[in-house]
Amino acid sequence: MIQDIGPNVFRNDFSDRGPSGNDIMLCYREGQALMNEPERLFPEFGDMPWADSEDTEYLFSVNERGFFLYKGARFPEGFSFQPLSVFRKDSSVFSFAGITGAQLYKWRNDNSYCGRCGTGMERSDRERALVCPKCGMTIYPKISPAVIVAVNAGDELLMIRSAGRTSSSFHLVAGYVEIGETFEDTVKRELMEEVGVKVKNIRYYKSQPWSFSDAVMIGFRAELDGEKQPFRLQESEVAEARWIKRSEIPEPSNNISIGSEMINRFKYGEI
Ligand SMILES: [Zn+2]
Repeated sequence: MIQDIGPNVFRNDFSDRGPSGNDIMLCYREGQALMNEPERLFPEFGDMPWADSEDTEYLFSVNERGFFLYKGARFPEGFSFQPLSVFRKDSSVFSFAGITGAQLYKWRNDNSYCGRCGTGMERSDRERALVCPKCGMTIYPKISPAVIVAVNAGDELLMIRSAGRTSSSFHLVAGYVEIGETFEDTVKRELMEEVGVKVKNIRYYKSQPWSFSDAVMIGFRAELDGEKQPFRLQESEVAEARWIKRSEIPEPSNNISIGSEMINRFKYGEI
């Protein structure tokens, strides 16, 4: 999965240090990141000697190397802005750091002003947070919980295709946790809303940070409760639903998401 970058070690402890040496400078604009895409590289501090502490903000480290958000307008040569979808190709430090930085950039941009009093927000000097200097409101990075569930009926897996997308492939049912719900409540509600399926034996699988949508995905297994019934599709969301036999499950294009991992492990009889 995208966060599996071992033996490299991701560290998210807070620091307000400045960049040095070969620290990485992450530069973003709407839906894009600055990179040398064929070589899968970001600019280093040494490529941007003009970057000062006003323009940079420490985000996190991989091993001992710091990753900084660069907020200036002058960029080094040899790099270009590329769509964030580049980070969906594989599990690597490049992809994981690139999309995690993009989530923090978006959070900073979406919270330039205090939502309570309208004053410009400032960085906290003691934790990863934005603080209003007038009323004290504190805003932490946005992380939205969402469940994803692999439901089986014997040797078949429940898979759906989304509505409203031109090239939607089969995937698992997923959805954001709503107010007042446990994760298990969300699993039951999403399955009933999207396909009209009732489940039992809901078990936790694993979780995954998914910065492409500011989410943390919480994976579950579940079994069909009772006999198979015709699907009742939520047509605004779901174009098609199927129970697919292990041997007929299409191979996911990569293994970066928890959904792909669960599909593959079911296909090969590992879960
Ligand atoms: Zn305020």
